[in-house]
Amino acid sequence: ISPVVRASQGPSERSYVMIKPDGVQRGLVGEIISRFEKKGFTLIGLKLYTCSSELAKEHYKDLSSKPFFPKLVEYITSGPVVCLALKGPGVVASARKLIGATNPLQAEPGTIRGDLGIETGRNVVHGSDSPENGEREIALWFKEDEVCEWEPSMMPWLRE
Ligand code: GDP
Ligand code: MG
Repeated sequence: ISPVVRASQGPSERSYVMIKPDGVQRGLVGEIISRFEKKGFTLIGLKLYTCSSELAKEHYKDLSSKPFFPKLVEYITSGPVVCLALKGPGVVASARKLIGATNPLQAEPGTIRGDLGIETGRNVVHGSDSPENGEREIALWFKEDEVCEWEPSMMPWLRE
């Protein structure tokens, strides 16, 4: 390992990002993955997956008392999702910025939801809201051997 590569490695956080069933059905998978890839985050997990309502309920357990919870679970289980695990410095907050506000009509143009959606109940993509939830959600959606820790060869051109 060259010194320049070693210098680029450091502690960094992980986020769970998910393209929801509407994003998959609308053919937006490539477009959405591409935004995170271009930003420079490292893709360490990726799969197409149809989840059980048990998993959807566990993922969104903090919202279980909300009136829209049953509809939310129905939405998330209505077709395949694309699960991404991303790694990088500040990836949790940065991914949330790239994703935009929960209501796509309030999300800024240039964000995924701002560019690609119109309703909160069809807001195309999920991103973890804290590093702790990033770890919790990656463990929930991925098996251990589905997460691939690797060092992109372009890293010295992304991080000094
Ligand atoms: P997020 O972190 O921006 O995804 O927003 P929340 O954690 O507040 O909510 C999780 C998800 O629940 C959102 O992304 C929406 O898919 C859904 N959701 C939140 N609020 C509403 C609502 O008022 N109505 C409906 N139908 N869905 C909602
Ligand atoms: Mg949330």
